[in-house]
Amino acid sequence: MAIKQNIESILATLSLGVSLVAVSKTFSVSDIEEAYNASCRAFGENRPQELLKKQQLLPKDIEWHYIGSLQTNKVKYIAPFVKLIHSVDSDRLLGVINSEAAKNDRVIDILFEVHVAKEDTKHGWEPENLYVYLSEGGHNKYPNICVRGLMTMATYTSDMDMVREEFLRAKELFDRLKGDVFVDRPSFDTLSMGMSGDYILAQECGSTMVRVGSSIFGNR
Ligand SMILES: *Cc1c(COP(=O)(O)O)cnc(C)c1O
Repeated sequence: MAIKQNIESILATLSLGVSLVAVSKTFSVSDIEEAYNASCRAFGENRPQELLKKQQLLPKDIEWHYIGSLQTNKVKYIAPFVKLIHSVDSDRLLGVINSEAAKNDRVIDILFEVHVAKEDTKHGWEPENLYVYLSEGGHNKYPNICVRGLMTMATYTSDMDMVREEFLRAKELFDRLKGDVFVDRPSFDTLSMGMSGDYILAQECGSTMVRVGSSIFGNR
């Protein structure tokens, strides 16, 4: 019951054009069913085997998003069905996703994870390195990949000015890439940023997709 109410109150705060990924990592199949019955169709997980197990048990119209760091030897578990991989942090990982996508005769949608946070524990590309990689066409050698945009995580802090600054750096890179590199690719349309603590602010900063876990399912 609480899950349904939480989803409804979050949906009421989302701007037009912003979609919700319900982050269900560590939560049970029955919790996900409850969210599904409250009309959620997009779920995010950060462990390949856990994602595969849940995918097998739950309705086939669910869109599964992969949001965690991804080891190359585990791409195969999710490649047959994953909707969007948010966390591409290297060319090597992109190459493996491309070949697993080819084996499954599909094109996989991906986001590049950008590192804007102060903590150096967070994964992702330095904005300038990603800009150079993409403007040199680093991604173009992978025909089974569709680059949909960027994902980022802000520093875990109560300093909302710092969080805003980080989100705006990601938005600036997104706009620059859209204008310079993906200008004739309308599929470059997704800026995934915002979690339970900062998704309202993330929308103000241009997010098109928020990833919310604990505000829906409770504390992990
Ligand atoms: C866990 C997680 C989330 C959701 O975090 P909450 O604070 O529970 O909303 C979002 N994005 C990523 C990458 C995560 O690992």
